[in-house]
This record gives sequence, C-alpha cells and structure tokens, in this order.
Amino acid sequence: MAANAETVALFRKQLELCDVGAGTSLAVLSEDDVRAEHAAAFLAAAAELEADAFQVNIRKKPGSFFGPGNSLQGNEPAKAALKSVDMVVDLVGLLWSREQTEITDAGPRMLLVIEPIDVLKRMVSNPDDRRRIEAGSARLAKAKEMRITSPGGTDVTYRFGGYRIGEQYGYTDKPGRWDHWPGVFLYTAAVEDGVDGTVVIDTGDQLLLPTMRYVTDPITLTIESGMITDIGGEGLDAALLRSFMAGYDDPRAYSVSHIGWGLDPRARWDFMGTDPAAADSTGQDGRAFYGNVLFSTGPNTEVGGDNDTLCHIDIPLKGCTLTLDGETIVDGGRIVPADMRVEGR
Ligand code: FE
Repeated sequence: MAANAETVALFRKQLELCDVGAGTSLAVLSEDDVRAEHAAAFLAAAAELEADAFQVNIRKKPGSFFGPGNSLQGNEPAKAALKSVDMVVDLVGLLWSREQTEITDAGPRMLLVIEPIDVLKRMVSNPDDRRRIEAGSARLAKAKEMRITSPGGTDVTYRFGGYRIGEQYGYTDKPGRWDHWPGVFLYTAAVEDGVDGTVVIDTGDQLLLPTMRYVTDPITLTIESGMITDIGGEGLDAALLRSFMAGYDDPRAYSVSHIGWGLDPRARWDFMGTDPAAADSTGQDGRAFYGNVLFSTGPNTEVGGDNDTLCHIDIPLKGCTLTLDGETIVDGGRIVPADMRVEGR
C-alpha cells in the first residue's frame, strides 16, 4: 500500500520524539490488512529516518481483541522478531497481555497506535506534555491518599500503597517503556481494599470500552474496601451497567481499578458524540481530556496487581475535584498546579 505523504510526515515527527534515527531497529506489528495505512506510513517514515524497519504481519485470529486473546499468542517466531528490535509500533493492541510484557521486558520500547488517522492528526504529542505528566507523577509517587468529590455527589477516597504509576504522553524513548499515542494522562491504583465512598457517574460522563456511551441518567456506585457493593440508579445506564458487569460472572469484576486525571488539551470531551471518526476509536479523547478524572473498574494488572478479570471499564468523569494528600490537583474540572497546567486553560 502506498503511504500518504501527509501521514508519513505526521508519523515521522512522532518517531523522532521516540528517538528513532539512523540504525534504530523498528518493527511494525499488524494483523492482516487492519490499519494497513498506518503500517505503510510508519514504514515510510522510518525509512526517511534511515531506521532499519520491517513489518511483522500476523493473521488476525477470529474474535481477537485487546490483550488476552490477542493474535500474537503462541506465535514464537513473530515474538522473537519483536523482541530483537529497539522499538515496536503496535497496531494490534497488545495492551494488558503477557505477550506485551514479554516483549518490553526483553528491551524494546513500544508505542501502541490504534486510533484513526484523523484523531492522530489532531493529537500530536510534544515534550511539554511529558514535562507536565512527569510533574504529576512525581506527586502521585509520594501521595498516600486521593479524594475525589463532585457536585453530583461523588465523594470517594483512595489509599495508595506503592502500585506502579502509569504515565502516558504519547511517545517513548526509553528501553522497555510502553506508551500509547494519542493521549496525555496518568494513573495509579489503590491498595486492594483501599477505596471507600460513593462515585456518581453523572450526565455527560462516559462509559468507555466496550460500552462507548455517554451517561444520561446518573449512576451511583457504592464502594466499600475497594469493591463496588451497589450500582444504584433508575435509568437505562444503570440497568445496562448492572447487566454488563453481572454478565462476567466474576466477583473480581466489581473491583475498583486505576485512577488518575487527564492533561491533554487537544483531547475532546465531546468527540464520541460529535465526530464520525469515533466509530473506529477506542475513546482516547475521553480518557485524556484536560481536567477529567479517569475512574475505572476491574483489573489492576496494569499497575502491578494480580486481579486479571476481563471486565474492565474506563469511566472519565467531568467537573470533579481531586486532591492528593490535601493538595488540589483538579478543581471542578480545571487543573490547578502551575507545572501541570496549559496556558490559558
Ligand atoms: Fe483502563
């Protein structure tokens, strides 16, 4: 497939941020002809930078999706090729899988890229994103307690005990480090029994993958010792959430998962409801939009825990206030600390 010149230029910028240059070995992992345009443009951009690039194209297994059940499972020669390079561009979605950890543990840095090209064009990363994320993660690393409140009635506390901090700023230049382009946000998780209180998922908040809906009727979650003990609400959204979670027949589905906030000024809260490209998106706009609080349920393997339930929902909350050990980080959806803020926002 011929690469589109504008896309090649865009991807070249992104690879430069990833410190790809002459002699860097780079593998582009893809399935069948899924995101063939992305693959062709990454290979062309890598060639312009004089990197040693090649494509690892595998058969898409029926029903394969994120992480567990991915098409790379059991394909030892493909895995060996991916482990042998400096950098992997993942167009498949290995997120949360053993295969991803195996590859990054062997040394390569990895960049996940699965959003539509129109979304990528709008959300190009820059070093200032990284600086602001690192200012946030320095605070998160020291924090003992996070409290989140909202006008709708959220009041929940997270007690931290050393789980990994996830930093996402859309590029990666360090061996073994994973990132996802696009999206600028950070997160960690509480100790297993360390979340208590109420989370109100309010009108305009989002239930992301796999439901992909804006909530129109508030849902009230009661959380005790890290577990959701009640999903309250009279509307359709609450009924769907109750049914969806019960469908996994797994008590660990009701655990509270990662928690953090969004710092991406280019991500749009309204994207999922207003842009046709949203049909092919995994909702990075929702996860990353500036000043959101990203609440989530289910597994905690991403931050180093051992709950690997398959029921995972990211739930960006709008207009919340978030404090870390008493310092206000987000105030009604606005970022407060100067070192995380974007001019004029
Ligand atoms: Fe998540």
